[in-house]
Amino acid sequence: MKRMRSARPLTFVAVTTAAAVVMVGIGSPALAKDRGPDTAPLREAVSADNIVKHLEALQAIADANGGNRAAGTSGYEASAQYIEDQLRAAGYDPVRQPFSYDQFGVNGANFEQVSPNQSVYVDGTDFITMSYSGSGDVTAAVTAVDINLTGDRASTSGCEAEDFAAYPAGTIALLQRGTCDFGTKVANAVAAGAAGAIVFNQGNDVPGDDRFGVLNGTLGTVQSTIPAVGTSFAIGEALAGIAGLTARVAVDATLTTIQSFNILADTGGRAKRTVVVGAHLDSVDVGPGINDNGTGSAAILETAIQLAETGEDARNLVRFAFWGGEEDGLVGSDYYVSQLNKRDLRNTEVNLNFDMVGSPNFARFVYDGDGSAFGDVGPEGSDVVEQVFLEYFASQGLATVPTAFDGRSDYFGFINAGIPAGGLFTGAEGIKTEEEAALFGGTAGEPYDPCYHQACDTTGNVDTTVLEQMADAIAHSTLVFGEYKHAITRLDPTEYGLMPFKADHSMK
Ligand SMILES: [Zn+2]
Repeated sequence: MKRMRSARPLTFVAVTTAAAVVMVGIGSPALAKDRGPDTAPLREAVSADNIVKHLEALQAIADANGGNRAAGTSGYEASAQYIEDQLRAAGYDPVRQPFSYDQFGVNGANFEQVSPNQSVYVDGTDFITMSYSGSGDVTAAVTAVDINLTGDRASTSGCEAEDFAAYPAGTIALLQRGTCDFGTKVANAVAAGAAGAIVFNQGNDVPGDDRFGVLNGTLGTVQSTIPAVGTSFAIGEALAGIAGLTARVAVDATLTTIQSFNILADTGGRAKRTVVVGAHLDSVDVGPGINDNGTGSAAILETAIQLAETGEDARNLVRFAFWGGEEDGLVGSDYYVSQLNKRDLRNTEVNLNFDMVGSPNFARFVYDGDGSAFGDVGPEGSDVVEQVFLEYFASQGLATVPTAFDGRSDYFGFINAGIPAGGLFTGAEGIKTEEEAALFGGTAGEPYDPCYHQACDTTGNVDTTVLEQMADAIAHSTLVFGEYKHAITRLDPTEYGLMPFKADHSMK
């Protein structure tokens, strides 16, 4: 971003402090401490009203393009042009990073109990084809693989080769969610000679995560050689209890090569401490994707616009990234990380990810970077990102709850490459708990987003109160990491960037 003249400057507490240092520097090194930027001006400028204007534009684009903005469609192309036009108008020079991949599609699927009882399951209600399932029509005996229906239902079903010791080849594997990803379970089943796979939800309690309903999962980005469906815990448990069970699993799937791209827009500043602020721009193919993820991409767009308005570069290069192909398996962000050479990886200081930040029945989720709540620990520094968000929301008197680093959004490629990450989320198909309803309002027992991945995910499916709160936190975090001088592992989240909120008694 080229420097622009005559725009309102960013105010830095550090500047004030520096001035104080100049005046009284000799006696008190404490005052020299860089306490970070005052993020209030940027937070005020990044408003829900402006973001809603972007959402309305994305809605109009979906309406004019078959009702969606999915990867490889005219709806995505038009969304990209809108983002690029806004960025250029703000002084950025956005570039497209093209990539192609095989997109999975289902023409039809069947799942039935054949014997001893006849029972036909309903597609989309009782089961959903795993994405990247193979094609095939198999009727065979069902073999349960290391499932656990008792107690906490801790499950490593299908994760270890020994789970398939003496596995009868040609049968359909019955697998339970848990520990390893679905792709690993089904690949192990294929290696053991399974002809088909049924993966059922785990049936354990994880706050904010639906571990009982019908699984809507993926096997990754490589198509399996066998048909595989996901189903609910109740159906899995029932099947496991039937002696001599024979079932039918039939999937007619296609792979279509998709050409898509990410949009990258950089500020000025130090490339050796690049801050990647990302959100996916694509929607699912059944709806306009306004909450998922119009809200995230519009919020980082508005942050980019208002940051440019300040007319000053941040200390560090901030790269605003609009990912493509997220709904097909994090394709764009994974591709971006895969193209980073050693030096690029070293120069990528942190990734901030924002996916669904306006859920109607919201919870304020912060990714659990230190794994204190869910055990999935991110690379060193992810704990700092989490703390920066927690300190910020605490300074605003806003409660938050942790959400697992479970790899369901675009930070996954970064943490897998050892790059610290974090971000925000307001909930998808998960069910709000009583405790969360007490903290955030809304309705317990209902999904955070009742229109998740549906046609009704329109501009009417966004809560602008939480959108404003999340947008402020996005602006705050972008500036905090954009300004931090050292490696983020040295950042003190209890202080840096929080000065306006914490009266610093020593200054008086
Ligand atoms: Zn999403």
